[in-house]
Amino acid sequence: MFNDILNYNDKLSSATYRKWLSDFADSKRVYPQIIELDPTTNCMLACPECISAELLNGKSIPKEIMYSMIDNFSEHNVKGLIFIGGGEPLMYPRFGSLLNYAASKGLKNGITTNGVLIDKYLESIAKNAAWVRVSVDSSNASSFQIARPNRVPNVFDRIINGMRELAKIKTGLLGYSFLLLETRGFSNAKELYDAASLAKEIGCDYFEYKPMVDGMHFLTKYSDEFLNTVWEMQDKMKTLETDDFKIMMPQSMEMYRKDNLNQPKNYHECPLIKLRSLVTPTGVYPCPYKRGQLKYSLGNIDENNDFYSLFDKSGVYEHLDPSRDCQFYCIRNDINEFLFNLLSGDIKVDELPVSSIKDVFV
Ligand code: SF4
Repeated sequence: MFNDILNYNDKLSSATYRKWLSDFADSKRVYPQIIELDPTTNCMLACPECISAELLNGKSIPKEIMYSMIDNFSEHNVKGLIFIGGGEPLMYPRFGSLLNYAASKGLKNGITTNGVLIDKYLESIAKNAAWVRVSVDSSNASSFQIARPNRVPNVFDRIINGMRELAKIKTGLLGYSFLLLETRGFSNAKELYDAASLAKEIGCDYFEYKPMVDGMHFLTKYSDEFLNTVWEMQDKMKTLETDDFKIMMPQSMEMYRKDNLNQPKNYHECPLIKLRSLVTPTGVYPCPYKRGQLKYSLGNIDENNDFYSLFDKSGVYEHLDPSRDCQFYCIRNDINEFLFNLLSGDIKVDELPVSSIKDVFV
């Protein structure tokens, strides 16, 4: 299961996606199967490196629009929702009821959260989330306060205790996420091993670390000293692995090993737009890399809450050109390459082995 999480092409080759793949390969109309959803742009932390800082304007998706959208997604056979931000998703009023509702409509749910409010929605999350990834980014309370300045009392302990309680009753996966910070005279690379140990001790299924990006989504450059510490820590953290606990390094970290942080693309359309989409209180966007960039907006659900008519009318597929607009590292580049091979006939859906992966989050 763990190794499947980042294996998007294998997930797409599962029985769940056969019809979508066939229709896509035949150039029939297809719609996004995974929706990322920013329920609110509110957040209780004030992280200086937050790439969504300019989007945090206290706006939430109105309740009636939210629930009718979820009905609409369910009717269109969407496989999964990812509650995420721009904003802290658990700050959406009565988030637990929303999660229960999405699950009752047959949608699988993933949650990316800062973890502060896990304790408030413990039972609903434990029952209805296929996965929860908590951005902790530190190994102790004092470094958390530097990494994530805030006025929430005992916030680090609250997050860790919430995760510990969730681990006891969860039905999905729980991950401890760690953003590599070398900024403002602060570095957290030396904390990696302690953070991974803590993740294991409180019952997480995996520990994931990842690099920072700038406001335009280009990977941040780190000093040689910082990276050397990361590689040392990677070896040390591997000793913590068991059948039930994994250390996960995203592909973007490989870019640092190659000393090549950009990812130029030679394709001019992004097929991924037809597989995933992002809905926020301030607009619908093709992917999180384009969050808040109005020129890529598919429209606004405040003005038209029918996601599918926005999608049909939008010209973003035609005017977004990855060779020009996405020269940074995109985690879904491999899926795009795979989809282009389907369109060209180099890969044939009928001949593609059916993977047995159950995780739908492509
Ligand atoms: S190629 Fe560009 S538009 Fe497509 S998913 Fe990646 S960043 Fe988004």
